[in-house]
Amino acid sequence: MDTKYIFVTGGVVSSLGKGIISSSLARLLLSRGFKVTIQKFDPYINIDPGTLNPYEHGECYVTVDGHEADLDLGHYERFTNIRTSRANNITTGRIYQSVIDKERRGDYLGKTVQIIPHITDEIKRNVKLLGNTGKYDFVITEIGGTVGDIESLPFIESVRQLRWELGKKCICIHLTYVPYIRAAKELKTKPTQHSVKQLQSVGIQPDILILRTEKDIPAAMRRKVAQFCNVDPDSVIQSIDVPTIYEVPIKMHEQKLDEIILRKTDTPYSGEPDMAKWNQYLDKLRNAKETVKIGLVGKYVELQDAYKSINEALFQSATYEDHKLDLRYISSEKLTDANVDEALSPMDGIIVAPGFGQRGIEGKFVALKWCREHNVPTFGICLGMQCMVIEFARNVLGLADANSTEMDPKTAHNVIDLMEEQKSISNMGGTMRLGAYLCRLAEGSKVAQAYGTTQVEERHRHRFEFNNDYREAFEAHGMRCVGENPESHLVEVVEMPSKKWYIGTQYHPEYSSTVLNPHPLFVSFVKAAIDNKKK
Ligand code: GLN
Repeated sequence: MDTKYIFVTGGVVSSLGKGIISSSLARLLLSRGFKVTIQKFDPYINIDPGTLNPYEHGECYVTVDGHEADLDLGHYERFTNIRTSRANNITTGRIYQSVIDKERRGDYLGKTVQIIPHITDEIKRNVKLLGNTGKYDFVITEIGGTVGDIESLPFIESVRQLRWELGKKCICIHLTYVPYIRAAKELKTKPTQHSVKQLQSVGIQPDILILRTEKDIPAAMRRKVAQFCNVDPDSVIQSIDVPTIYEVPIKMHEQKLDEIILRKTDTPYSGEPDMAKWNQYLDKLRNAKETVKIGLVGKYVELQDAYKSINEALFQSATYEDHKLDLRYISSEKLTDANVDEALSPMDGIIVAPGFGQRGIEGKFVALKWCREHNVPTFGICLGMQCMVIEFARNVLGLADANSTEMDPKTAHNVIDLMEEQKSISNMGGTMRLGAYLCRLAEGSKVAQAYGTTQVEERHRHRFEFNNDYREAFEAHGMRCVGENPESHLVEVVEMPSKKWYIGTQYHPEYSSTVLNPHPLFVSFVKAAIDNKKK
């Protein structure tokens, strides 16, 4: 297959939404029947984001094959339904590690190992890895960071070289920012011109410019940008702020981004992309009148991106249930028995978030006790599920000191304990139980009803696990273990059948919820929250 490569770089400032643009473009090309994949190259030295604090780069996303990935891969999957993998996310750290390993093996035959050509060759090899499988018409590569950063230079240099090697099979999109100066009531294109100059100075002429803006950019101004930047006038596209990111593919198509790319890469095409289902979703989104209010109890409440996939999964499900989502972050660090009623009673449903470590943990127990006693739809995810188990052990089974050995290694009642396979591990990176595992669901359980099946595969990211020694006691007192790994017998799902909706999953269903396929457990939870609101 004649694979074409599309590179997406960013200029002026970070956080312009390269991931959303790449995802939107992928959506459009897929909807035209092309085979597409997207990958992200991150210029940091960490091998992967698995060891990063969420305050640094937001949520750590997990692929089916167990790679701890940048959260942009979540956008890729949500927009496209594509399943990404380890090969879709490369960091500077991975590139260097592989070059250094080769050097130690003697593969370079005594040569001096340098950034150019050895690092850039390794980058290029990785860029082409997915393309070389012959499975794709288009490989979209997003280069993290901003043009001009020291860190991204080797990546930009690799793009320059690839452009020469690939000729018309390669296209460069540069995303920049056009600020609106309120006092002068003017949009300013100077930062864009400078950013394109910077790209040109390292040998890359962008084919398409996408200008991120708060206000409509007049046609004359776009023509001016085209002229200054050596870009075709129809290839200067604006990306104006929209109410939701899911409108972006439509906005890009209105300006013919997909057609421009097909034309510039000499790719035969006809007709229009089939966006019928996508548009149905957007119609629901626009027409939703009522609101469902969900409280998310977690410790990263100031940071939107820390629970990105959960937010999006809730948002998608609410839309399919014809509701707007009102998502409130509730700081688990601040919750106490004295204020919990005030904080949680306005909510139609509660999610208790995943996480690591002691901070904010007691507030999660306070929240869960309240939820259980007030019979509010409650969804515990990963650490949230573990907290459900601990709270139940303390307050129903009467094991006052029950805990996870993550929080208290000496607890007498280790209802959550380190997994056997984790006991010998001391390295932090990529050593958790990661990726998709099979899970059998109990016939007739609420969770099996929600899925409409008793066999699912879901993604994991954890070291600790329900302690099966306590299983009988839990079951006897009303918390059932309704999901289990068929080989290891690890408990993956607990639920309280006596409650409206009280379910905890050791896995992360949020990672696999997409716009066109919202996750059945999130849909079921949101439905329960809506029913709860009506009552
Ligand atoms: N800290 C818990 C564990 O490692 C939960 C992890 C999570 O919530 N992702 O098992």
